[in-house]
Amino acid sequence: MTDILTPVLTRRWQSPRSWSLETYEQLEGYQALRTALTAHPDQLIQLVKDSGLRGRGGAGFPTGMKWGFIPQGPDGPGAKPKYLVINADEGEPGTCKDIPTMMADPHSLIEGCIITSFAIRANFCAIYIRGEALHPIRRVRNAVNEAYARGYLGKDILGSGFDLDIVVHAGAGAYICGEETALLDSLEGRRGQPRLKPPFPATSGLYASPTVVNNVETIASVPAIVQGGSEWFRSMGTEKSPGPKIYSVSGHVERPGQYEAPLGITLRQLLELAGGMKGGVPLKFWTPGGSSTPLFTAEHLDVPLDFEGAAAAGSMLGTTAVQVFNETVSVPWAVMKWTEFYKHESCGKCTPCREGTYWLVQILERMVEGHGTATDVETMLDICDNILGRSFCALGDGATSPITSAIKYFRQEFLDLCAAQNVEPVGAMA
Ligand code: NAD
Ligand code: SF4
Repeated sequence: MTDILTPVLTRRWQSPRSWSLETYEQLEGYQALRTALTAHPDQLIQLVKDSGLRGRGGAGFPTGMKWGFIPQGPDGPGAKPKYLVINADEGEPGTCKDIPTMMADPHSLIEGCIITSFAIRANFCAIYIRGEALHPIRRVRNAVNEAYARGYLGKDILGSGFDLDIVVHAGAGAYICGEETALLDSLEGRRGQPRLKPPFPATSGLYASPTVVNNVETIASVPAIVQGGSEWFRSMGTEKSPGPKIYSVSGHVERPGQYEAPLGITLRQLLELAGGMKGGVPLKFWTPGGSSTPLFTAEHLDVPLDFEGAAAAGSMLGTTAVQVFNETVSVPWAVMKWTEFYKHESCGKCTPCREGTYWLVQILERMVEGHGTATDVETMLDICDNILGRSFCALGDGATSPITSAIKYFRQEFLDLCAAQNVEPVGAMA
């Protein structure tokens, strides 16, 4: 891993009116687009493959490979259109990197969208933004209008012959619409619920046409790769997880916020950047990438926060939403709050997730209120076992992560809540 790096993704954030086209252009904005439009689209796909850029939405799928799945035959009559869809429905608890990017530097996203659309031969791009995020919706819409007025969008962009339209779509505030196929259903005007995969969107996505769905941070990384080259990008981060990343650090730290660092940074280093634990109260547990990733504890301070490092230590990198909890926090209480969220956001399409999250909340709430029973911990593990791998989408699996990992590291805390109770568990899950 390289040392804490000179900012790449956040380098404009502190500039006056960083969101305006004027500032963006003064700081080399849209230069990468000019370079990209002189290249062959296939060269751009190869460049992104060579850079090793992996999806920043949580899963870490190789970006260039995803672009390469888009069929690139001749665009004659009967050929399906290709689409680019930006997943800006940031909703994972603790995750706050895409909204700041759209607020502080919307043109980096738009420039990335134009380069990506050119590479995959798409002439239409939709940016799907979380419905509650009113300010980013307005800001990105304004930036799109600025880009049209300056000839970066619309017909014959910069005289290249390439046409692109961008539409900013406001969602309605459902966590499940961050799942890419539910997002596509929502964009098409239907209730947002996941579709069966495969087919993946790359072959059958928006309106059943080939579609690249990428996260905001992924696409905002593209102009820098075009300008700096793949070797430069690979000089940051680790071999298999190259590049810079925005970590959202929240909770019991002195300075919560967004910290850009090379992939592979550790929590120990992030805590230094964030001023340490608030009031010096010791760390108890934390999430490396949002509540859908298994918890870590103080034992994991030196785990490299890249895709491989987090997985090797028993969790996932996820959205790099680092939520930090000190020793005053009750683990069962925190797990209950997360599970209430998953129960509320479960779309109801499949039984393991819909029913499982309901019963997990029943047990956790009862336990936290002091009415736990001797079998509650095993019952919760059994329910999780019946959700994990049996749910239709990643929401169900993610809902089990805080519970199973919390019981792994803090079983006694759950048992203490159930101590001296030996009544039968409630309802049908007994
Ligand atoms: P996934 O691994 O199924 O897919 C990742 C991406 O790769 C998708 O775009 C998918 O279409 C593509 N892909 C995978 N296999 C493919 C293939 N064989 N052919 C073509 N394309 C292929 O993951 P997912 O279910 O899309 O996402 C799960 C992740 O989402 C979790 O890791 C979680 O961290 C993250 N997440 C993020 C947020 C957020 O707010 N950003 C919210 C919830 C979850
Ligand atoms: Fe819906 Fe949950 Fe099933 Fe996903 S796992 S389809 S959110 S019910």
